Amino acid sequence: MLAWSTACARGAPRPVASVTRAPFGTTDRGESVSAYTLKNANGMEARVLDYGGIIVSLRVPDRHGRFDDVVLGYDSLPAYLRASPYFGAIIGRYGNRIAHGRFTLDGKTYTLAKNNGPNHLHGGLKGFDKVVWDVAPFEHPESVGLVLRYISRDGEEGYPGTLRTTVTYTLTSANELIFDYSATTDRATPVNLTQHSYFNLAGDGKGDILGHVVTLNADRFTPVDSTLIPTGELKSVAGTPFDFRTPTAIGARIDQNDVQLRYGPGYDHNFVLNKSGDGHEPTFAARVYEPGSGRVMEIYTTEPGLQFYSGNFLDGTLHGKQGVVYQRRSGFAMETQHFPDSPNKPAFPSTALRPGESYHSRTIYKFGVQP
Ligand code: BGC
Repeated sequence: MLAWSTACARGAPRPVASVTRAPFGTTDRGESVSAYTLKNANGMEARVLDYGGIIVSLRVPDRHGRFDDVVLGYDSLPAYLRASPYFGAIIGRYGNRIAHGRFTLDGKTYTLAKNNGPNHLHGGLKGFDKVVWDVAPFEHPESVGLVLRYISRDGEEGYPGTLRTTVTYTLTSANELIFDYSATTDRATPVNLTQHSYFNLAGDGKGDILGHVVTLNADRFTPVDSTLIPTGELKSVAGTPFDFRTPTAIGARIDQNDVQLRYGPGYDHNFVLNKSGDGHEPTFAARVYEPGSGRVMEIYTTEPGLQFYSGNFLDGTLHGKQGVVYQRRSGFAMETQHFPDSPNKPAFPSTALRPGESYHSRTIYKFGVQP
């Protein structure tokens, strides 16, 4: 908004929203990878790879109109190929954990990779974060974006059915980044797609995120066991360090002596979002405010849950863009989703997709500032 109004005040034409493409290296299998830069008329900019749909950088203004990159990630493809804790990527076929890498659907039991201790995490050894998506850019007057398509074959990573997946990234002139997920299948399968950007609203590499002030529209969360699998209970947040119904700094209670925080260790939990309406329109899920920069991120979603992960497993071993060292809790993720381990929890909202049905989900990250 600021760039636009400043430009107009000077009589300059409004900058035009655009998508541009540049090469970003080659995978180990010889696939060429491209980086697409989405820019809106306010100067907000998202750089996205066709590899994993990874958001490499996201430049957003602060309260003085100064732009910073607010997501964690790497400068080059080899770093993403070597070791990435899902920085910026699309997660599928199933976001978060499935206990013991096993589930039964319509009477048939399926076995998946155990790639996270005893459990299956984020779609397996080669999930949707590690494949090259087919990308079609679009440019409209008030929005630009990418349509990303991927066909996951029957049996891939142990999941049944050919899953035809489309994820659309849209950057609007209202400084929103919108994710629209859709999918169809030819055999019943669980599906739970999400986006795994890590944010630091002070700017990538600018310390930890403990001072960020979080509001979550959730009266309940799903407590977990020591391997981060939900117990099945939907527990009230009242009187616990999980009560973010009023704005609270991430660091205010993160080290309290609480069994759930010990399991995290820190926040790594699914919140049960309070819902209104018919479920087809995104509803308010979360707000994050960074006092130093004034940046605000609001999240709206059609999903029933949100995984709030406070970057507990970052440990200083990963070196990101421009060499910044990712120390513990230097980024947080807010992954809109169905609840973890839903395929084994009949009481949770179902994640089963069957032939003839279509999967739809929408999440909006809206950026702004607070004085
Ligand atoms: C999980 C964390 C995990 C992180 C990166 C989050 O969605 O809940 O436990 O460490 O993703 O893999």
